[in-house]
Amino acid sequence: MATDPKAAVNPAPKPSNFLRGIIERDLESGAYAARHFGGTPGDAAHHQAGPADPARIRTRFPPEPNGYLHVGHAKSICLNFGLAQDFGGVCHLRFDDTNPEKEEQEFVDAIQEAVTWLGFDWNAGGTSHLYYASHYFDFMYRAAEALVEAGLAYVDEQSAEDMRARRGDFNTPGTDSPYRSRTPAENLARLREMKAGGLPDGGAVLRAKIDMAAANINLRDPTLYRIKRATHHNTGDRWCIYPMYTYAHPIEDALENITHSICTLEFEDQRPFYDWLLESLADLGLLARPLPKQYEFGRLNLSYVVTSKRKLRELVMEGIVEGWDDPRMPTLFGMRRRGYTPASIRAMADGSGASKTNIWLDYGVLDGCLRSDLEGQAPRAMAVLDPVKLVLTNWAEVFGSDGFIEACQAPAHPHLPELGLRHFGLGREVWIERDDYADVPAKGFFRLFPGNKVRLKYGMVVECTGCEKDAAGALTAVLARVVPDTKSGTPGADAVKVKGTITWVGVADAVPASVVLYDRLFTEAQPEAGGRDFREVLNPQSKRAVTAWLEPALAGVPAESRYQFERHGYFVADRKDHRAEAPVFNRITTLRDSWAA
Ligand code: ATP
Ligand code: MG
Repeated sequence: MATDPKAAVNPAPKPSNFLRGIIERDLESGAYAARHFGGTPGDAAHHQAGPADPARIRTRFPPEPNGYLHVGHAKSICLNFGLAQDFGGVCHLRFDDTNPEKEEQEFVDAIQEAVTWLGFDWNAGGTSHLYYASHYFDFMYRAAEALVEAGLAYVDEQSAEDMRARRGDFNTPGTDSPYRSRTPAENLARLREMKAGGLPDGGAVLRAKIDMAAANINLRDPTLYRIKRATHHNTGDRWCIYPMYTYAHPIEDALENITHSICTLEFEDQRPFYDWLLESLADLGLLARPLPKQYEFGRLNLSYVVTSKRKLRELVMEGIVEGWDDPRMPTLFGMRRRGYTPASIRAMADGSGASKTNIWLDYGVLDGCLRSDLEGQAPRAMAVLDPVKLVLTNWAEVFGSDGFIEACQAPAHPHLPELGLRHFGLGREVWIERDDYADVPAKGFFRLFPGNKVRLKYGMVVECTGCEKDAAGALTAVLARVVPDTKSGTPGADAVKVKGTITWVGVADAVPASVVLYDRLFTEAQPEAGGRDFREVLNPQSKRAVTAWLEPALAGVPAESRYQFERHGYFVADRKDHRAEAPVFNRITTLRDSWAA
């Protein structure tokens, strides 16, 4: 039994991750050893004037601030920050905010909070490596002019339709734009007009001049800049031209001295342009060598989960869930509210390694990581989720009065004595689970039925004598007699043998609580398999709130405290709604995987 939570969730050896091999090789060959770093992002001159780069490698996590981070992003965060940590490097948090229309400060703040919560830090050696791509707009424009002057870019004024028609396709080479043969001087004048607002939105674009017949369509003179009059969250109305992602991203990496630029597989076809652009700008003396290199890995998909930002937005907007932080959402805010620990999410991400194919990870893996994180550290408690009263009819006979309360105690954690004891009282009436009673026991049922004895955990042995039902036949109370001298931990307590032990909470000191039993949002592992609409496979049981009875100590615990409710699973005090006078606990997961085939 591991008591060090870190040891429990980070099983050695490291899973297969081809990126580690690449980094090890680069470090061994000294590929990046001679780099300089100017202390902040900058061009070749800026970095060359600085000292040797103290970071052995540099990676980055580059979210677009247009939504909340989800579990797929967690994979990328753990990979980038994790590799930097493991190899003496630094990971930058960069807001890829080159698209003026969709980005908002709210998301910028939420992303920082989520990365911090996951346990990562963009501060290293006294420097904050928190960057905004929009801070590089000046350099990007300067680089564009340099490409134009070098004959490597031109202003194209064809209509979008004509441009598309001339691009060709997989089987057909493209054909040159009539604007392709303009002189650098003409192009420069036109680019400056674009920038000055002399052309309407969509009136022209700046394109790289590479090869309209290239087999890779991304090299057929890709667009670098477009005209768009839009207010940007950082630069306001300063610009009416904005760089394309494919142009901006490599430059962002190079200005930040990134060594290993890790992205998902769909960018593989962009790599030749990434290299073309950076080599061109390094040849022109604008960027420092060695240049960053792009590496692609497979996306992480989690079964029973959708992760596209657009679809998550639909879930929120259509009211299928109650917000971005609904505990059923795979956003990091949702997962946090649900009760997943940062360590469990990191363990899941690390455990899935990195490969060249997109992977589907079973949701049970995440729950497994949660259980192994919490098993060794979460305090235990008793809770009755579907309560019925158990009445001990001979209580006064044995203890002298119906009002007598026997003080009971239990360790907060069976293997962590330093967490101390929990205290609660046993009296004439206790709450038990409704399904702990049966009129007629099924085979293997050892709990309460007339004539059977069970132990109330940490309490006494009771012998069931019958039950009471209402007119409709529903169970209203279970009746039993307490067996004297059987209190747990007292001499002779074990003299009476029982086959069953049940959990309970004393009516006298139980605390009522709202307990929300969350389950998977979808009933199918791949909600969208075969083009299906995920709305067809919503799990109607994904949220069920019950009024439960808890051990008295649970009322006052702070929000986000996590417990194992004995026999039921792991629960967390809700981050938003939990109050001492009105406790709210969320089920994180059950004790065992009830979905396993
Ligand atoms: P979405 O498709 O959900 O909108 P995105 O890729 O557009 O996600 P970005 O903000 O651009 O979102 O992503 C930031 C980083 O996270 C990128 O480097 C991206 O590759 C990575 N990322 C996003 N989803 C996943 C995933 N499922 N697995 C691994 N990495 C991911
Ligand atoms: Mg994106």
